[in-house]
Amino acid sequence: MKINENFLNLKDSYLFATVGKKTTAYKTAHPDRDVIRLSIGDVTLPLAPVVIDAMHRAVDEMSRKETFKGYGPDQYCYGYESLLTSIKDSYRRKGVSLESSEIFISDGAKSDCGNILDIFSADNTVLVPDPVYPVYVDTNIMAGRRIIFADANEQNGFLPMPDKKVKADIIYICSPNNPTGAAYSKAQLKEWVDYALANKAVILYDAAYEYFVDDDSLARSIYQIEGAKECAIELCSYSKTAGFTGVRCGYTVVPQALLRGGVSLNKLWARRQSTKFNGVSYVTQMGAAAVFTEEGERQIKENLAYYRRNAHMISDCLNELGIWYTGGKNSPYIWMKCPNGYDSWAFFDYLLEEANVVGTPGSGFGANGEGFFRLTAFGSEENTREACRRIKNLLINRN
Ligand code: PLP
Repeated sequence: MKINENFLNLKDSYLFATVGKKTTAYKTAHPDRDVIRLSIGDVTLPLAPVVIDAMHRAVDEMSRKETFKGYGPDQYCYGYESLLTSIKDSYRRKGVSLESSEIFISDGAKSDCGNILDIFSADNTVLVPDPVYPVYVDTNIMAGRRIIFADANEQNGFLPMPDKKVKADIIYICSPNNPTGAAYSKAQLKEWVDYALANKAVILYDAAYEYFVDDDSLARSIYQIEGAKECAIELCSYSKTAGFTGVRCGYTVVPQALLRGGVSLNKLWARRQSTKFNGVSYVTQMGAAAVFTEEGERQIKENLAYYRRNAHMISDCLNELGIWYTGGKNSPYIWMKCPNGYDSWAFFDYLLEEANVVGTPGSGFGANGEGFFRLTAFGSEENTREACRRIKNLLINRN
């Protein structure tokens, strides 16, 4: 018996554990201080009432013999028609037309980010941006793939563009981005699509934060870009869009037009899913189906507006301080340059000790994150306002 030795190449993930440990140690030493966490990557507002009503109705259906549901319909890998229809409608509103057979319901984007790699050879070279959502790197290390990095930095606004000299087979793009909050314009994404088509590569496009986009020049789906259906798979999630982080539901789009070596990737993914996955619960799918109804969209937009106001508060604070940052506009994340030459962890300690505010050190997301710091808009309005007041006080007085 041999283990998968690729796992031994994974780096321990210290980032959030160390943030938690340092925060707890500070709170224990200073129980009188009110520490505010602007490091939260999880949503904090409850599910929208339409979602709750739909889930209650689905539970009631499960309680009666006549309406009880077992395994989901296997025609579309256990996705219910009402959910697939609402997803197709939401894409239509973005100018994209999809077929039910192109949409695969999942328990969230994180699982599919890892699972989708089953359909690709371990020989492929993978291109990921640095800094990056760590799942893209770790899932490829587990499979023993060669990883190369695209430098995201202050010069390119943390939006690296394709380099024709670099040959990659699988390309990760996350827009709006976690951790940097930066979002590609449609024109920039067109360059990535052209690069992928020229290299016969496949883009794995993570659209987990697409609902935060409120600027028409930015893409909400890679399929808004001509040619993308021939080179891209899109991973989406109800987590940040509709507060489903604890409910668990997402979807992956694999277009019928996406072929490599004459083989349909849609067929490979359907085969993979029907072999290794038995679908998402009926109650969850009915809750998700309510999200993209007219009333559902109205209600989730209220929650998004709340997070957006927090993001604007943080951006305004950094604008006043003259601190460089990305995000905050079409994203719940604000990626700031550490002031006064602090490195990421030194700034973390400084902010915790002097302002009692917790953020996430950028260096934890990759080498290019050193000297940067991530703040998030998922906290409460009161805490965000108070944290901004403290940050301003600290940095105006000490600069
Ligand atoms: N992709 C990105 C970029 C994320 O930041 C997250 C969650 O934080 C996910 C995917 C995972 O989302 P889900 O909750 O659907 O698994």
